[in-house]
Amino acid sequence: MLVAERIEQARAWRGRITGSVGFVPTMGYLHAGHLELVRRARRENDAVAVSIFVNPLQFGPDEDFARYPRDLERDLRLLRDERVDLVFAPGVEEIYPPGFATAVDVGPIGQRLEGASRPGHFRGVATVVTKLFMIVQPQRAYFGWKDAQQVVVIRKLVADLAIPVEIVAVPTVREEDGLACSSRNVYLSPEERRVAPALYAALARARALWQEGERDAETLRQAVRTSLAKEPQIRLDYVSVADAATMEELAVVDRPAILSLAAWLGATRLIDAGRRGGAGAPAYRGCAATSPAPRGHAATLLRTSWPSSAASGLRALRSRRCWCACRGSTGSAPDRTRGSGA
Ligand code: AMP
Repeated sequence: MLVAERIEQARAWRGRITGSVGFVPTMGYLHAGHLELVRRARRENDAVAVSIFVNPLQFGPDEDFARYPRDLERDLRLLRDERVDLVFAPGVEEIYPPGFATAVDVGPIGQRLEGASRPGHFRGVATVVTKLFMIVQPQRAYFGWKDAQQVVVIRKLVADLAIPVEIVAVPTVREEDGLACSSRNVYLSPEERRVAPALYAALARARALWQEGERDAETLRQAVRTSLAKEPQIRLDYVSVADAATMEELAVVDRPAILSLAAWLGATRLIDAGRRGGAGAPAYRGCAATSPAPRGHAATLLRTSWPSSAASGLRALRSRRCWCACRGSTGSAPDRTRGSGA
């Protein structure tokens, strides 16, 4: 496994690869969700490249860039075990040298939801992903559905700019109690960690209503709000039922849609999302199987029992009837689009 800090090293590696390259961009502090992307890339490509770069451009001035968790040595050990070929782990000045001024802006799609709560976030994401794509030049790039709007934004980016990269979206990996694996889960206090699965339980509640035939988007949003109101520690930022192509809010769910939410638990902001159809059920691995135990947590906290109302949701998800629809697919066919716009 080559660990490259410089662009020229990564480019030289790319020049030696004759087969297909699968690329997984990350901000490091890897967990089971990241490794799911890496394994998928390993299965589908001749060579696998992973980037580890905490991108300052996608953090707001009051956000957690400085304290974002980092552990490069541990990340490298995990990636070695996954037989990754290239780890590109540049410093900030390598990506943004003095005088760097170009930005990639995907327009209104990047200004809604996460883009509204975090102004400039998707401009930062689109800029760094474009630069990483130019460096690594992969055939395929792997992103997680947990960050559903990011998937939509990246697909728009590669379609608009005719970047010849296939974007593969991978189902969310969750703890056994439903909490989506996230590097930021490490910030949660034991009490916050205990209530955090309520986020997924709220999504599961809306999904259950949808399965019963409810198509009024506001009723579905309200179901999420009502479900979360039971947990006063959770402060909802937004809940959205949006068109899966444009991220515009829907009145009626009459087309492919994404249900997403962002919420604060104390000082930690978490996001989660659901979709229907596509690549099938999410994986329930337990993030802690490959992550260090969150600071101050007993391992048992990661096995909080699932509330009975949400248990049926989990069963339904496991049976491949995930909530939200993307591109209208309902079967288990690979959920992907060609980045070339084809
Ligand atoms: P990050 O390091 O948070 O920027 O995430 C890197 C990639 O991993 C992004 O495409 C995320 O959507 C994806 N990812 C993060 N958490 C999960 C998860 N729990 N399951 C699947 N993919 C994930």
